[in-house]
Order: sequence, then structure tokens, then C-alpha cells
Amino acid sequence: MKLSSPDQPVTDPARLEALESLNIWGSEPDAAFDGLAALAADTLDMAFAGISLINAEQQWCKAVTGLESNQWPFSRLACEQVLRTGGSFQIRDLQAGAGLAVPAPLVDAGVRAYAGTPLKHQGQVVGTLFLYGVEPRSFSAQELALLQRLGEQAEALLLLFEARQQRQERQRHQRASEARYKAIIQGAAAGIVRINGHGQILAVNRSVEEMLGYRESELVGRNVKVLMPKRWSEHHDQYLTDYQQHGAAKVIGMGREVEALHRDGHTIPVHLAVSEVQADQHAPESREFIGILSDLSDVYASRQHQERQRALLEVLHTGLTDYRALVSGNTLWRFLKEALKELTGSEYALIGEVVQQSGVPALKLHAITDLSWSDESRALMKKLVSGDMMLTNPDSMLGRVFAGGETVLSNRMQTDPRGGGLPPGHPALYRFMGVPIRDKGKVIGMYAIANAAEDYDPELVEWLEPFTSTCALLINLYRQMNEQQQLNEALQAAHDRAERASQAKSEFLSSMSHELRTPLNSILGFAQLLLNSRHPLQARQQRQTEQIIRSGRHLLNLINEVLDLARIEAGKMQVSIEAVSLADVVQEAIETLSPQADKAQVRLRWLSPESCRCSVRADYTRLRQVLINLLSNAIKYNRPGGQVMLACEPSESQVRIRVQDTGIGIPENRMSELFLPFSRLDADSGSVEGSGVGLALTRKLVHLMQGEIGVESVAGEGSEFWFELPLDEQPNRAPQGQASSPDAPQSVAIQARQVLYIEDNPANQRLMIDLFEDLGGCELTCVSSAEEGIELACSAPPDLVLMDIDLPGMNGFQAQQILRNNPLTSGVPVLAVSAAASTHDIRRAREAGFVDYLTKPLDLAAFIRRIEQIFNQEALT
Ligand code: ADP
Repeated sequence: MKLSSPDQPVTDPARLEALESLNIWGSEPDAAFDGLAALAADTLDMAFAGISLINAEQQWCKAVTGLESNQWPFSRLACEQVLRTGGSFQIRDLQAGAGLAVPAPLVDAGVRAYAGTPLKHQGQVVGTLFLYGVEPRSFSAQELALLQRLGEQAEALLLLFEARQQRQERQRHQRASEARYKAIIQGAAAGIVRINGHGQILAVNRSVEEMLGYRESELVGRNVKVLMPKRWSEHHDQYLTDYQQHGAAKVIGMGREVEALHRDGHTIPVHLAVSEVQADQHAPESREFIGILSDLSDVYASRQHQERQRALLEVLHTGLTDYRALVSGNTLWRFLKEALKELTGSEYALIGEVVQQSGVPALKLHAITDLSWSDESRALMKKLVSGDMMLTNPDSMLGRVFAGGETVLSNRMQTDPRGGGLPPGHPALYRFMGVPIRDKGKVIGMYAIANAAEDYDPELVEWLEPFTSTCALLINLYRQMNEQQQLNEALQAAHDRAERASQAKSEFLSSMSHELRTPLNSILGFAQLLLNSRHPLQARQQRQTEQIIRSGRHLLNLINEVLDLARIEAGKMQVSIEAVSLADVVQEAIETLSPQADKAQVRLRWLSPESCRCSVRADYTRLRQVLINLLSNAIKYNRPGGQVMLACEPSESQVRIRVQDTGIGIPENRMSELFLPFSRLDADSGSVEGSGVGLALTRKLVHLMQGEIGVESVAGEGSEFWFELPLDEQPNRAPQGQASSPDAPQSVAIQARQVLYIEDNPANQRLMIDLFEDLGGCELTCVSSAEEGIELACSAPPDLVLMDIDLPGMNGFQAQQILRNNPLTSGVPVLAVSAAASTHDIRRAREAGFVDYLTKPLDLAAFIRRIEQIFNQEALT
């Protein structure tokens, strides 16, 4: 028979892939294949039969009958023809020169005839069912059809084999994946619980065992509620039902924080995430749930720690930032005590300060949780907190802390030998912690806490260290503020006393001023009258009268200076600072003192007057007073033929006024006494009149005007006193302070004028009567009270009223008001003549509407001039 040409190459990849997918090559013998091979040999009466698979090089028999070997090289075998053509094939006699190879074992067996049919898998020929016979023979078509059917059986077996292989493979996979899953579950750090749809536990992992204290075998089969505290377990059945019916989930698929119940009854915070596992969608009973439990104990502990830390920081922050409010509101101690209780979760707390009592430390309780149990104990607590009573026993639990400086921890108070027992009725204390509060090593306070839910330990003491240090700080601040408060109170008391004393002094000064001036008015007034009498005095009498006037003026000057000084010291001296032309004041002072200088034979020189042409910030009258004091001293303490030089040195913002003399000078070692009141150095013993008040007053006046004063001197050569005043910043402003010199009064004879004098002092009345007699042409009426004066003025309005201020009954101010408001007298000028000489009195009088205010003792010449002015003014209007 002729070989057909090859149709399908042996090495076709699709074919080889189909063969590969069977995964049959080299597999174990299989009875089904063996049986089919034997059946084929028997049925077609052949000696050998095989079911073979063919790859690119080899033929391998899954089953073969009658042969030992089952694999041989595949080339030029009869089966190759089957494979290539894809159809059945037969050879009557292999030895008849068909040119085909026969496998060696078959050659040995002496084969002659061949028949084969292809075996297909996935449409590809993957092998053959072949038969060999030892006799030459041909196969009928019927026999070949039978062979083909047997081949189909073999193909079915191949399919079966493949299916079995695949199933086994799947099973292997599943087993491996199950093993892996189990390993994961068991090794997981989280607890895993698997339950069915009824809540029955199917499995738990090791973590659950460790977390909840059960073994798996104890849990499997039980309801998962066993792992829940009652408040959760009560609703679990309903929850599962609701979920399965309506899909309402609280935990499933989302996870939340819940509590798990440990076997020994305590609860554990856990995070629970539940996933549903449904193996078969059509079988609800196959529902399973896997719960993953993460132990949150550590997280909770850390959260709690953070929370406590935050609370501690908040306490420290409040304590430090609000300490003023806390201390001043007296809530510091209560705040600290409450903070302590909260921070440590204690039932009781106390905080106190350590004070020394007779050299022994004692505890002054500032705040304590009320643990009184009877009226008596309540009273005791009150006494302790108010500070009326202190704790002193150094051997008590508290004493060990405040007196011994120990930190005391006791978690078994009832049996602690250090406790010393509690009085009957005292609430039970079972845990105690007392901590000393130190400052620079010294115990300055302590706090104690009792009955926390958990034992006190050294870590708590350490944790509270910032609180303890803050307490030390606050106690110190409290002490300082207390001291400050006491100091302030003492200062306030001293200030009040000084105020009262100053008030008394002012009153004394004004009455002294009045009392001294009144007699001086008579002395100076009568002396002046005598001197200017129409009946000239003898030369001796004149000299004596002049001496009376000099001494009186000196006394008046002294009184004025002393009162000024006292006023400054009492803070009663008021200056009105304004722009003052320095040159004008200097000019006036020089003019005033020229006669004195001439008399003392001292040359008074004003060096470069143009340098004084500036405005200073000063009180005109007081600046004049300062200049006159310094110039008059320079004249007084000079020598005949000597000089006094005045010069100004303006600088950027101030001007220095220098008064230089060529006088006796001041010894170096006496300089410090110079500005002290009543200190005259050696002048006391000399002939120069003085009181020793001038320089003291001068310095105070300069300071009142924001200036400085100083002196340089060489004993025997002379002195230079200087003072500085600020320059006025607006130099162009017209300087004030100098009264524009009024036109010289036109002298009008004081003819036929009616003058009413309201004065209660008879000596003053007498003086005025004598003066007006001397003047002549004026009619003076004296009355002793304001009431009388008003009556008289209304009945016959005078041309001028001279009004004393300090009168019995109605005073001069009130009387002036009445006269002013009465149309009959409103046009009558009222001139105040008073012994009250303060600037305040003078200002008040001007404001009240007096034409002027003259102070006693009167300078009679000036008085007469002023009266003339008033009459002249009237004549003009
Ligand atoms: P008083 O001149 O009334 O004694 P002061 O207070 O003005 O008082 O002066 C105090 C003392 O300072 C004087 O007594 C005098 O000893 C001394 N003193 C003041 N000015 C001069 C001066 N220019 N030269 C020498 N000594 C002076």
C-alpha cells in the first residue's frame, strides 16, 4: 500500500498544545485505558494493541497489551501515517516492503499486520489507537469502523482523564489556599471571629483566644453574644435579623468602636469590622460573617494619657496666665485643689502653705475638699482653712510631708502604720499621696490627694512634677502679692495720714499767715503814718520809726518766705507756667535791687543784656522772686566796692542765668548746707540780716518751674549761683507776664469822696482812719461787720468800699456778692484788704468781682496809689 502525503505536521503547535492540555504524558497506568486496549486487541483478534500519544519526537502508550515497553521514537511508524492523515490506516504485511519502521519490541515479537485510528482532542490528533498482528491480514470496512468506534471510546477516556486532572488541580489549589488562609487567620494580630447567620461561632483565631481568654474549642458552636457585654448582646439577635431581612447595618461593612467581654468579665475596647461572606447566593443559610477585632486598649490608654496631659497643661496654663485674677479673687487655692482632684481622679485633695510657727514648720491649709462628718468636724475644718488653726504634728501622714519633706505614698491606708488612725466618723481613706512643694530646696507648701480609683505610684508624682513646680511659683507669687498688698495698705494709710497732716498744716499756715499779718499791718501802717505825718518827726524819732518799718518789713519777708516754703512742702504752691520775657524780669529785678546795691556800695552789672532776650517757660512772679533772692544774696554777702554780674547763656532748649559776685564766697565743706532751710552758715554771727530760708525756697521754686539750680564758689573770692529754665518753644509769641504798664494815673484830688471800710479789727480801723485824716478830703466810715456795712452802703452808697475778708458772721466774699447784686450798690467798686495772702485767695477774690485784692500789711504808698487809680478810672467812665 502507498503511503499518503503528510497533511498535518507532527510538530503543529496547536496539536502539541492540545496534547499538553491533557497532561497525560507519563501518567500512571490506568485500568480503563488498559481494558480498552485489551478489548480492541481481542475484538479485532490482534496480538498487540495500544492507546498512544504522540508528541514531536516520541510515541508514548498510555496503555499497551502484550508489550513490556511503552515508549519509542516516533518516526516512520505506521502511526505517523494515522496522525498525518487524521484517518484510520492499515497495512496488511509490514514485511512486504511498506518502508515503514516497526518499534524494536514489536519487531522482536514478529509483527506483520497493522491497523490504527486517530485519537482527537480539542479537534487535534493527539495520538492513536493501534493494533499489530503476527499474521499478514487485511481489515474489512466493518472492522475498521469498529476500530474507529473503539478510538472514540479512547477519546472519551482522554476527556475523562483531563477532567479528573483538572479537578485534582483545583482541589490542590483550594487546599493550598485554605492552608494559606488558615495561616493568615491564625497569625493575624487582630482577632478574627467567623460566625454563621444565626450568630453561632464557627471559628476564632489565636488572637481572639489571647484577647478574650477562651480556647477556640470553648467558643465554637456558641452564640457570639458570649463575647459581648450585656448592653450589646441584648440587641444582637434582633440586629442580625434586621440586617438579614432589611440590610440595616451598624457594623457590617463599616466598622466601629465597641466593647468585647473577656472571659473573666472585664470589658476591652475594640474596633470591630464585620464582613459578610455569602458562599451561595441562593442559599441564605450559607451566610457567614467574619468579624475582625482590633484591641484598642493601648490606643485608649494613649488617648487617656494624652487627655490627662492636655488637662495638666491646661491647669498650668490657667494657673500661670490668670494668676493675678486667681490670687486677687482669692480663688487660687480652690483652683489648685480642684485641678489636683481632676487630674488624679481623686476623691479628696488639700493644698496648703508651710509657715514657721515658733520656729517649727506648720501647715496652713488653704483649700481642702470638705470631708466633715459632724458639726464639730465642720467647725474644725473652717478654722483650719481660715488660718485660725494650723497643723503641726510632724509624725502624721501630712506632717511627714510638710515637716519632714517626704513624699508619702500609701495604697493601704487602713493598715499603714504611718497613718495613726482616723477619728470616728472620718470618711474612710484607703489611698493617700502627699507631695511637698519646694522652692530652692525649702518646703514652702504641700498637697495631698486621697482615694483615687487606682493606686498612687511614683510615676504619678513624677507626672505631677510640672504641677508641683507651678504650685511653688504660685505660692511665691501669692506671698509677694500679699506682701505687696500689705505694703500698699500701709502706704495708703501713710498717705492718708500725710494728707490729713498736710490739710492740718495748710489750715495752720493760712491762719498763721492771717494772724501774723494783722498786727504787722498796724505796726507797719502806723510807722509809715508817723514817718509821713503832717507833723514832722524829730531826727531821732524818724530814725527809730524807720527802724520799726525795716524790722517790720524784714519780719514780713520772713513770714512770706517761711509760708511759701511750707506751702511748697505741703504741695500747695501752684505756679502758672507761661512764656515769660527773661529780659523784662531781669530788668525789673535789677531795678528793684539797685537801691540796695548802691547802699552796699556794690556795682550791679548786667552783662550783655541781649543774651537775655528770650522767652522762658516760667511763672513770672516766682522767676522774679528767684532772681531777687540770688541778686540780693550776691549784694548782701559782698564787700564794699565789690561787684555783682548777671549774665544769660541760652542754649538749644534752655537758658542758664548766672549771678556772680566778688563777695565772701562759701567754704567747700559748707556747700551741702547751702540749700537747707534756716541754714545760714556763718552769717548767723554776722551783721547781715537774713533768715536762711531764701536759698531753700529759691531751689524749690526753680524745681517747680522744671529748672535746675547750682552753685560754684571759692571762699574769699566770690560765688556764682546759676539756674536754668526751659526756653519757650515759640519764641515769636509775645511774652506775657509783664503787665503792660498802665498809663500813669492822672492824679485827681481825692476830693469829697465817701469811703466805707468794713473791718472788725479796731487797730486796722484806727490805722485807716489816721491814714485818711492825713490824706484829707476823703470821708471814711468804719463799720465792724458785713451786715452793718451792707445796710449803710444801701442807704447811702459810697464811692468805694474797702472790705476785709475774714469778718465775724458774713464774710467779705458773701458781702461783696450782695453789694454786687443790689442795683443800689452794684456800681460801687469794692477793694479787698485782707491778711489772707495766698495766691488762691487772691485769684478767688478777682474772680468774685473785687476791683483788686490788697494784702495786709499794707504798703500805704501803694495803697494810696491804687485808690487814686480806682477813683481816676471812675472819673473816666
Ligand atoms: P539768708 O540770706 O536769709 O541768710 P539764704 O537762704 O538766702 O538765707 O542763704 C543761706 C546762706 O547762704 C546765707 O546765710 C549765706 O551764709 C550763704 N550765702 C547765700 N548766698 C551767698 C553768696 N552769694 N555768697 C556767700 N554766701 C552766700
